[in-house]
Amino acid sequence: MSEEIVTDSDCIHHWMIGRPNGPTSMGTCKICGLEQEFKNSIQGSGWDRDGGRRRAAAAAAQRNKAKAGG
Ligand SMILES: [Zn+2]
Repeated sequence: MSEEIVTDSDCIHHWMIGRPNGPTSMGTCKICGLEQEFKNSIQGSGWDRDGGRRRAAAAAAQRNKAKAGG
């Protein structure tokens, strides 16, 4: 009988994140040596802010319209 070598063990990966490579960083497990790509945190998600502002503007415009139409 031969025992199978299981590479995918119950390793609690200890990731060592390397230098950022574009939008992602390569991480290597200190324990088992597994490599995995990590997404870098994206700074300045402007769309959310812009969306909120636009929404406020639309609400204001609607208010003005209602006043004018009154
Ligand atoms: Zn590991």
